[in-house]
Amino acid sequence: MNHAIKIMAPGHEALTQNTRFQVYTERQLDKIRPLERFTKEQRFEMHVVASVLPFRVNQYVIDELIDWNNIPADPVFQLTFPQRNMLEPEDFERMAEALRRDAQRSEIQAIAVDIRSKLNPHPAGQQEMNVPVFHGEPLPGTQHKYRETVLFFPSQGQTCHAYCTYCFRWAQFVGIDELKFASREVEGLVAYLLAHREVSSVLLTGGDPLIMKTSVLRRYVEPLLAPELEHITSIRIGTKALGYWPYRFVTDPDADDLLRLFEEVRAAGRHIALMGHYTHPRELETPVAQAAIQRVRRAGAVVRCQAPIVRHVNDKVRTWANMWRLQVQLGAVPYYMFVERDTGPKNYFEVPLAKSLEIFNQAFRLVSGLARTVRGPSMSATPGKVLVDGVAEVQGEQVFVLKFLQARDPDWVGKPFFARFDPDATWLDQLVPAFGVSKFFFESELRKIRRTHRQQAWGDSVPDRRRSVVFGHVEWE
Ligand code: SF4
Repeated sequence: MNHAIKIMAPGHEALTQNTRFQVYTERQLDKIRPLERFTKEQRFEMHVVASVLPFRVNQYVIDELIDWNNIPADPVFQLTFPQRNMLEPEDFERMAEALRRDAQRSEIQAIAVDIRSKLNPHPAGQQEMNVPVFHGEPLPGTQHKYRETVLFFPSQGQTCHAYCTYCFRWAQFVGIDELKFASREVEGLVAYLLAHREVSSVLLTGGDPLIMKTSVLRRYVEPLLAPELEHITSIRIGTKALGYWPYRFVTDPDADDLLRLFEEVRAAGRHIALMGHYTHPRELETPVAQAAIQRVRRAGAVVRCQAPIVRHVNDKVRTWANMWRLQVQLGAVPYYMFVERDTGPKNYFEVPLAKSLEIFNQAFRLVSGLARTVRGPSMSATPGKVLVDGVAEVQGEQVFVLKFLQARDPDWVGKPFFARFDPDATWLDQLVPAFGVSKFFFESELRKIRRTHRQQAWGDSVPDRRRSVVFGHVEWE
């Protein structure tokens, strides 16, 4: 298939349809026109699943990204619409039975909460291990897992323009306070950063921070540009707006203000990157999606692209090769292929590590060096980001070669380690150390970190960075 797509200039004439954001949730499922062709039973099944897992889709996704002649196999349909097998059969039946007899809302809620509690809402030690303690108190809405990077969850940014069915952040959307992870307090973040000069990068994440109006986003970004926070050299925004609602950057009333904000970050000498979540090449193919990337790049921001590999959606070699090629063609940077996390409806979406690696390697061979900036498959697991780097045979034993790309202890990064090859394993905790060794090299230290809630390797010994000199869009350090 030829994917050399003509990039259209961001002239608004071509983009005038569907520029009004219209969203549908579980309660409006029956108002989605293309679903009228589904049987009553099929729509009921969607209601059952959407009563447990968050559902939200918008008119752009419905009209421009889903091929309704290819239902249910269409990848973006699978990415956004609930499917019966996303719930275990007994859980599905339990919720279906309650809905059929028109049970009270409170009972339905209780069943949903019970099912959700089995779905590992906060994987990879997000709550117990990642929340930093500052002046003796946990710092709300913040995670500090890797020495250089702090994640911040603005409380107004905890939703998205549409929801991905595989989302590992699904607990943010189901309205249970103790599952949510957000803060309105940027002051606490700034105080923390002032005391932590080892941090060089802040990642605003969610949900999707670009669901916020620019004026609200500005309240979170501007304080990070203060001269006292000179050690914060990059600001990242994790977003799927580029894929799900590219009008955010083109025709939304405050689209231009958003681009001005990016320019201000650059003018303050900081790097600004949009961590664009693209699951399928189709999200890059529409004229407005391409115009959005053009406008963001012109404002001096870099678009880095990442997504998990998920069954039913993008577990094909050509899908990834086409996506990486298109990203490079549009001036974006292929960054990560992640492994689907151990949360939510993972049984429906997971792809074995061995197969993910095979797909990654084959796709990697199909693209030019410019697209080989991508890394993966990578698991964001409790100890860190673990790259499945290859399969090898060592002294007659077939092994996975693994390596930390990021780690709770920076000394672990880059050290290869080995696990017995297992064609069915889908996550780090299913792997067994190779060569008869009893545990992986990082396990004792990880236990200590868990116990003491402190990453001993961080902090005071990190030298101050030299000032960077900024001339236009070129930096020298
Ligand atoms: S865009 Fe990201 S946070 Fe939002 S639903 Fe998709 S995976 Fe989850």
